Amino acid sequence: MNEKDHEQNERIVRLEANRAELVRLVSQFQDEAGLNRSIAESVGGVLTRDYEDTDFAQVMSDRDVNDRLLQLLAENREQVERALSRLAEGKYGICEDCGTRIPTERLRFRPEATRCVDCQGRWDRLNRRSA
Ligand SMILES: [Zn+2]
Repeated sequence: MNEKDHEQNERIVRLEANRAELVRLVSQFQDEAGLNRSIAESVGGVLTRDYEDTDFAQVMSDRDVNDRLLQLLAENREQVERALSRLAEGKYGICEDCGTRIPTERLRFRPEATRCVDCQGRWDRLNRRSA
């Protein structure tokens, strides 16, 4: 196995590990979100006339935090899967927007990157404006 294949293999192993961890975290958070939801529902039933109750408000905001976390984890997993499919296509390390080579330093730091810093910044601005 030559140096380049070895490096590529390491990347796949690392990305697969990231993906497995993200899948695990998502199911863990979903379990917790499910628990919070049933608490919120039962508390909500009891406290129909007192929405100012601090415990109830706390449960609701935990639920919001969980939803946001789940969304972030799902986005991360999508990005990792994207990088894995770029690897499979032999396009890994090439920016999917402008086609330039993504610096090795960036890939070392963020192996799931599929865009150069400039394009990723632009993409983030375009896709998160409504969020
Ligand atoms: Zn680019």
